[in-house]
Amino acid sequence: MKQIIIIGGGAAGFFCASNLDETKYKIIILEQNSDVLQKVKISGGGRCNVSHACFDPKELIQFYPRGNKELLSVFTKFQPGDTMEWFEQRNISLKIENDNRIFPESNSSQTIINTFLNEVQKKNIDVKTKSVVKEIVKDGERYIVKTSSEDLVADYIIYATGSSPKSLKIVESLGHRIISLVPSLFTFNIKNDLLKDLAGTSFENAEVSIPKLKTAESGPLLITHWGLSGPAILKISAWEAINLAKVKYNFEIEVNFISKTLDEAEEIFQNFRHSNPKKTIGQSKIFEVTNRFWQKILDTLKIDLNKQVAHISGKEMQAILISLCSKKLQVTGKSTFKDEFVTAGGVDLKEINFKNMSSKILPRFYIAGEVLNIDAVTGGFNFQACWSEAWLIAQDLNMK
Ligand SMILES: Cc1cc2nc3c(=O)[nH]c(=O)nc-3n(C[C@H](O)[C@H](O)[C@H](O)COP(=O)(O)OP(=O)(O)OC[C@H]3O[C@@H](n4cnc5c(N)ncnc54)[C@H](O)[C@@H]3O)c2cc1C
Repeated sequence: MKQIIIIGGGAAGFFCASNLDETKYKIIILEQNSDVLQKVKISGGGRCNVSHACFDPKELIQFYPRGNKELLSVFTKFQPGDTMEWFEQRNISLKIENDNRIFPESNSSQTIINTFLNEVQKKNIDVKTKSVVKEIVKDGERYIVKTSSEDLVADYIIYATGSSPKSLKIVESLGHRIISLVPSLFTFNIKNDLLKDLAGTSFENAEVSIPKLKTAESGPLLITHWGLSGPAILKISAWEAINLAKVKYNFEIEVNFISKTLDEAEEIFQNFRHSNPKKTIGQSKIFEVTNRFWQKILDTLKIDLNKQVAHISGKEMQAILISLCSKKLQVTGKSTFKDEFVTAGGVDLKEINFKNMSSKILPRFYIAGEVLNIDAVTGGFNFQACWSEAWLIAQDLNMK
C-alpha cells in the first residue's frame, strides 16, 4: 500500500483526509501543535462560518482577491452546494443566514471538528500531533519527511500547512516560488473629529474609495474606537492588501456615508428646506444617518444648531454635503478584524495544476489551503477554497 503523508492538521488537511480512500492508501496526518483544527475551532467567533450560499462558480470567484481565475475550474467541480451536501450526508445540518453565510445549525465549530475527527477515526488514519515537519527530502520516487521526532517515508505528500512562514520556507527549499506574505482583511485606523466618540455608529450602505489606487467598494460601514470597519472596509483591505502594505498603511480614503452623489444629496437638502424652512438644522436630520452622526457633522463644521434651515448658507450646505458624500479621511494604520486575519501571499499559483492541486515542480506532491497565494474576503469563502481544493486532491488520488 502506498503511503500518503498530509502535512498540517487544519481545515484543508482534514477535509482531504476525510475524502481519501483508506482501502487504497496508508494515511498519516502530521500536526505540529498538540491539538488539530485549532483555527476551525476559533473560526466564525466559535461558530465556524463553513461556506457561503453562492452556488454559481463565476459569481463565487468574485470574492477572492487572489486566486479568482484559478479557482473557477476548482469550484466547477466542488462548490458550496457540494459542501452542504457533504456535511448533510454525515447528518450535520447547516443553515444559511440572512447575509448568506453558512454555519452549522448547532452554532458550534466543535460540530465541524467532531465530523472530521469521526471521519479520520473511521478510516483509521494516523493523526500524529506534536510532529513538527522540519524538512522534506526527495529520495528517488519517494519523499523523506523529517519531523521533530522521526523520519517518515511518503509516496505522496499533501502540503497544507496554512500561512506558517517557516513551513513556506520548506516548500521554497524544494523549488517553489513564494509570493511574500502580507495581511489581508483588516480595519482602518483613522483619527478624525468626525468619527470621535461615535464608536458603534453604522451605515447601511456606504461607499469607500482610495483615490490614489482608483479603487472603491460599497457595503455596510461601522465606526469603531480606532477608525472604520465593516464589510466595505474589509473588502477594500482584501482587494488592495498588497498595495496598502506597500504604502505602509498610510493613505487617504474618501467616504460616501449615504451612497448618494453630491447632486442627489443637494436635491434632498433643498426639498427639505423648501418644506421645512423654519425648522432648526439641529432638529432636521435630513439624511438617513443616526442622530448622533448628524449632530457630529454640524458640530465639526461649527454650524449653529439653532439656525433655521432656511438660513443655512450655500457654503454651509456644501460643507454638510461634502461631510456626508465625499469625506476625505487619512488612514494611519490597520487593526485586525475580530482576530480574523488572513494572509495574502504564499505558493505561486503558476506552479500549481488546478485540475488536481498538484505541484508542477514536484512529482506526487499536492498543495492546498492558505499556504497557496489564495485568499478571500470574510464570509466563509476561505474555508470553501480549502474544502474544494482538498476534495480535488482526494479525487485525484482515489482514482490512481
Ligand atoms: C480567528 C479566525 C477566524 C476565522 N474564521 C473563518 C470563518 O469563519 N470562515 C472562513 O471561511 N475562514 C475563516 N478564517 C480563515 C480560515 O481559518 C483559514 O483560511 C483556514 O483555516 C486555512 O486552512 P488551512 O488548512 O490552509 O490552514 P490551517 O487551518 O492554518 O491549518 C494548517 C495546520 O498546519 C499546521 N502546520 C503548519 N506548519 C507545520 C509543520 N511544519 N509541521 C506540522 N504541522 C504544521 C498548523 O499548526 C495548522 O494546524 C478565520 C481565520 C482566523 C484566524
